[in-house]
Amino acid sequence: MAIKLYNTYTREKEEFYPLNPPTVTMYNCGPTVYDYAHIGNLRGYVNADLLRRLLEHNGYEVKQVINITDVGHLVDDGDEGEDKIEKGAKREKKSVEEIIEHYTQAFLDDLQSLNIDTSNVYKYPRATDHISEQIELIKTLEEKGYTYTTSDGVYFDTAKYEDYGKLSNLDVEGLKEGIRVEANPEKRNSTDFALWKFSKPEEKREQEWDSPWGIGFPGWHIECSAMAMKYLGETLDIHTGGIDHIPVHHTNEIAQSVCATGRPFSRFWLHHEFVNVKEGKMAKSEGNFIRLKTLRDRGYEPLHYRYLLLQAHYRSIINFSFEALEASAKALSRLVHFYAELKEVERDTPKSQSNNYEEEFFASLEDDINSAEALAVVWKLIKDETIPRGEKKYELELFDSILGLGLSKLSREIYNVPPEIEELARERQKAKEAKNYELADELRDKITSRGFVVRDTKDGYEIESAKFSS
Ligand code: AMP
Ligand code: ZN
Repeated sequence: MAIKLYNTYTREKEEFYPLNPPTVTMYNCGPTVYDYAHIGNLRGYVNADLLRRLLEHNGYEVKQVINITDVGHLVDDGDEGEDKIEKGAKREKKSVEEIIEHYTQAFLDDLQSLNIDTSNVYKYPRATDHISEQIELIKTLEEKGYTYTTSDGVYFDTAKYEDYGKLSNLDVEGLKEGIRVEANPEKRNSTDFALWKFSKPEEKREQEWDSPWGIGFPGWHIECSAMAMKYLGETLDIHTGGIDHIPVHHTNEIAQSVCATGRPFSRFWLHHEFVNVKEGKMAKSEGNFIRLKTLRDRGYEPLHYRYLLLQAHYRSIINFSFEALEASAKALSRLVHFYAELKEVERDTPKSQSNNYEEEFFASLEDDINSAEALAVVWKLIKDETIPRGEKKYELELFDSILGLGLSKLSREIYNVPPEIEELARERQKAKEAKNYELADELRDKITSRGFVVRDTKDGYEIESAKFSS
């Protein structure tokens, strides 16, 4: 069966076929590395990873690019305001290089801890390594008559591209009539955007380059077009990002790419919904900026969060709460324990008549990556007592190769108890037998504080890692 994906551009679920099979080219708008990624930012990459695994299962080879935005993304997401990277450097009293290096590494670490296979990503191109490509692209647009220069930069004239705003159904006419208060009176249309911005004479930027138009830096949108086309060709198969990118960033990427090449830029546009918190938007200033580290500090694992994400369809809003994360953690622990109990069972391919789970599982994912339904199939399989355990083991491993929870590794981890913890547990047992309950409790606390759980059983006791304890 073909995979169907909801294409924001056409507003329809369409059957997906790549332009040049078996290769699928996929560009995921990457982070602006001026700060840590919050858990909402990470949603898109988990979803792209899921899609990638599904495509590979269906026989495709995925050429995936995640860019690193390290210049040109201004604080207002438009053409005004301070550059986020320069602002980050000032905030931390560090050089921009240090900021870029630190937050890029932190981002890659986050991806890894969510079981995203980072080594298989084809490229993580940085905008600052592709200045000449961006200048070339702007030159092409200039030669074709799409640009004009103002006192503060080179702009794209959106009135010259007939399909401008199609991605978001933008009311371009309305915008032209001045619904928005325009900050820059030199712009011909309020939707016009900067391709190249000049450094202001009064400010000393750390990052600036010479160009045919003057010293300055590239706009945020041109980076993505230049890097996507350099590594994946003029027409990509899939381009992804969060829904906030639809009206401006992706709309502008399309305009400048199509006008430069005369070809479609991306065949499919996928956008994930936001992860919100009780207070609404996640923002540092509001004190509700939740990172993977925040989850770890509260005793959760990044994979608990991956499970939480999988429980929702990527196009539905997630209202994050620690209660919801606790429920996901419990569910994942149950899954890991179920799998661990199959340790000794011989793995067997499905033979039972009643086993349609594989079809159901893939049908869910092939229907616009419905991971929520796919997870429900996993639980139905587990609860079905008519399915032999060997088959369950086979199916679970297959399903997990797509869901990416790493059940096999986790099930080994839960019983991987270091010798010193074993020793503490033995001492505790002895203390109990000697009816020295005070000492026994003390030893239990010691074990707990080191991240393990000791539980009494009818034959003695068992120990496991608290991370996935049931
Ligand atoms: P940025 O680092 O701001 O360029 O954003 C990186 C990615 O995170 C983009 O694809 C955004 O659309 C996405 N994003 C930003 N905030 C959220 C959120 N609260 N929930 C989900 N995705 C988000
Ligand atoms: Zn982008």
